[in-house]
Amino acid sequence: MFLGHIAVGLAAKKAAPKASLLWLVGAPTLLDLLWPVFLAVGLEEVRIAPGITAVTPLDFLKYPISHSLLLAAVWGLLAAGFYFAARNDRTGAAVVGALVVSHWILDWASHRPDMPFTPWSRTKVGLGLWNSVPATLAVEGTLFAVGLFLYALATKARDATGRWSFAAFAVLLVVLYLGNVFGPPPPSVAALNAVAFAGFLIPVWAGWFDRHREARAAAA
Ligand SMILES: [Zn+2]
Repeated sequence: MFLGHIAVGLAAKKAAPKASLLWLVGAPTLLDLLWPVFLAVGLEEVRIAPGITAVTPLDFLKYPISHSLLLAAVWGLLAAGFYFAARNDRTGAAVVGALVVSHWILDWASHRPDMPFTPWSRTKVGLGLWNSVPATLAVEGTLFAVGLFLYALATKARDATGRWSFAAFAVLLVVLYLGNVFGPPPPSVAALNAVAFAGFLIPVWAGWFDRHREARAAAA
């Protein structure tokens, strides 16, 4: 899942108005930001196998550190701790922690049964939404639309950057997503790994336009 993770981060703004989208979008995408790191150092493994699911050609052979439920909870606690240390915002910290774990739940819905509960568990789970392109587009499209709507409802632009950078973010992510679903598979694991590192730009961009928006008054 890709847009779905970003969607839950956008939707969380209402619950954690003091938290920047840098955190609120970074948290639900954190496991996918850690993944290329562990891939690069050889602790995790992926294979490109076109046709393995309808949506993604990636066969996640091993990703115990970034994508086991147990470590997702640990990463969630760490992220919540860092956020609390930086911002002293208890509600925001709880939301950040929950968002990190939400990644595992959404991935569990979309992946083949390749998601481990613990780094050493042999049982792997996954509901396989990715076996259907229409179902994936419907679920992720709906999640993303709802996320954008809730964020737009919770905040308003303070200036042109707050309006247009947000709009461009939404459009560009949809374009990237469709390119990802309908485009050719990555040419190599090395290329995939390099592109995955660029994923950190998404929360950075979200944090940028979020600084140019402010909470709407409750009555408005
Ligand atoms: Zn993931």
